[in-house]
Amino acid sequence: MQIISTVADMQALAHELRSQDLITGLVPTMGALHEGHLALVRLAAERADKVIVSIFVNPTQFAPNEDFTKYPRELEADVAKCEAAGADYVFAPPPDEIYPKGYSTYLTEERIAKPLEGVSRPTHFRGVTTVVAKLFNICRPDLAVFGQKDAQQVAVIQKMVTDLNFPVDVVVAPTLREPDGLAMSSRNRYLTNTQRTEALALSQALFKARDMVAAGERRSDRLIAEATHILSQHRRVRVIYVALVDRHTMEPMREVEPGRSLIAIAAWVDEVRLIDNIVL
Ligand code: AMP
Repeated sequence: MQIISTVADMQALAHELRSQDLITGLVPTMGALHEGHLALVRLAAERADKVIVSIFVNPTQFAPNEDFTKYPRELEADVAKCEAAGADYVFAPPPDEIYPKGYSTYLTEERIAKPLEGVSRPTHFRGVTTVVAKLFNICRPDLAVFGQKDAQQVAVIQKMVTDLNFPVDVVVAPTLREPDGLAMSSRNRYLTNTQRTEALALSQALFKARDMVAAGERRSDRLIAEATHILSQHRRVRVIYVALVDRHTMEPMREVEPGRSLIAIAAWVDEVRLIDNIVL
């Protein structure tokens, strides 16, 4: 497996893959890879001839008060994991390759990015869409795989691809969970054992909503109230939002429409910010 660290080398390789008519799959990540990421790599390997995993802790999607500097970085271990999962290339550029001195162009999706995460993290998706657009231009993939774990990110990227006519198929992979239900996340490693137990409240609240829907409940106010009640029973958990939205537009829904609705939660567990969601 090859590691590429400059934009010029990556663009030359993308050109080469295109000229050989090979289907290229891209899996954008920020590293600190876990099984959830690797499931995306395996899915890309099923769908594409060649798989590129990008590993880039993207500074523009972090606000100044967020965890950019302490975000875990472990390139060597990540590369080994990518190789074992079937990746062909790791694209791991240093920050100034992507944002050279004087960089000044940003891309914003202006509707879907506004609610939910957009309220507490108003510049987050601007950073995401900018870096994903750049990765698409640099790697020129035929398909790109994203995780449902970041449901709003998926919706924003799908809209960006449609609106700007990127010739890229967006493939969405299901959320991988720990056996006890906790959604896998690079940020879970910040949790102490006690906080990790408290963090289970997120998936428990979502599973309860799913069970209520299976039992016939359709009203979002009741589902949200029950999920909020479960979260409120955990002392270290502070709810940022609990919302029932259309999975494509992120607009609130009064009633569940099976397959189209999503219940999403963001919460602090002490100082660790977690998100999770489930499609209803
Ligand atoms: P990140 O490194 O957190 O930016 O995540 C890179 C990609 O992996 C994104 O498309 C995420 O949605 C996806 N991802 C992260 N955690 C999970 C998970 N538990 N299950 C599936 N996909 C995930």
